[in-house]
Amino acid sequence: MADSENLDFSKGCAFVRGQYVPIAQASIPMTDLGFLHSDATYDVVTVWDGAFFRLDAHLERFKRSCEHWRLDPGVTDPEITAILSHCVRLSGLRQSYVEMICTRGQTPWGSRDPRQAVNQFYAFAVPFVWLANEQQRANGLHLKISGVQRIPASSVDPTIKNYHWNDLTMGLLGALDEGADSVLLVNAQGQIVEGPGFNVFCVRDGSVITPDHGMLEGVTRKTVIEIAHSLDLPVEVRPVSAEEFKSANEVFISSSGGGVLPVTRLDGNAVGRGEIGAVTRQLAEAYWALHKEPSFNLPISYTPP
Ligand SMILES: *Cc1c(COP(=O)(O)O)cnc(C)c1O
Repeated sequence: MADSENLDFSKGCAFVRGQYVPIAQASIPMTDLGFLHSDATYDVVTVWDGAFFRLDAHLERFKRSCEHWRLDPGVTDPEITAILSHCVRLSGLRQSYVEMICTRGQTPWGSRDPRQAVNQFYAFAVPFVWLANEQQRANGLHLKISGVQRIPASSVDPTIKNYHWNDLTMGLLGALDEGADSVLLVNAQGQIVEGPGFNVFCVRDGSVITPDHGMLEGVTRKTVIEIAHSLDLPVEVRPVSAEEFKSANEVFISSSGGGVLPVTRLDGNAVGRGEIGAVTRQLAEAYWALHKEPSFNLPISYTPP
């Protein structure tokens, strides 16, 4: 760590095997089961204007994810907070996308018993990654409803963050091939669940509606639901069909990668009047205003202690 002062962290900083390294130099052993079997969990927290947003909620979910997959990151919440803060501090980034990862690690040579693996904790901070570019944020996204089914909870529990992304990636590739910006996946009943790294909402007759199961329970989704309650907007958390989405007044997605992001076209057709809706705008504004709320905001000290 002493020599980390001479390195260039401006493109991001990673924490790997106890060392802070520039993001381009960060690597993991090829035999880590996190790589070979996608046997890992992770969480992403954002830094906005030099402060973490809802870090506690992300740490809590990360802990739950680790316990569910029987992974032990070997670090406490205060230790994770210190590592993530140091990654951000070294990078100097005021707007950052910060990821914590726990992988299964390696088993002794020849063993196929995951219990014998030495789990690993990794982390990195890179410049903020938006889920939608500037033009998409200004005009709204065009989403395709995919025929690809999200992996069922009985196989890989989607409420626990994981890297089993092939369903999401194949759906996304299909949507991009057809000229859409991103994709929504369905469950076995044909109900909409989520997209690659985001939750989804629709607004019908003033009610804010979002699926209740079969997807990751995003911190941003939770934040949007809390904001809607505080604005006295009716909220419905229940299964939602593709037809309800297609005939909705408004559609938007939620993610740490940009908060509340408008969707103005679905499967090639305009959502409502094809413009960003009033409820979407109201929720997006409230989402960014909440970043100033002291209980959700943990400022990072950029000068070394
Ligand atoms: C992380 C993630 C989300 C969004 O969660 P946030 O906590 O709001 O960033 C949604 N779906 C999937 C599959 C995810 O991995």
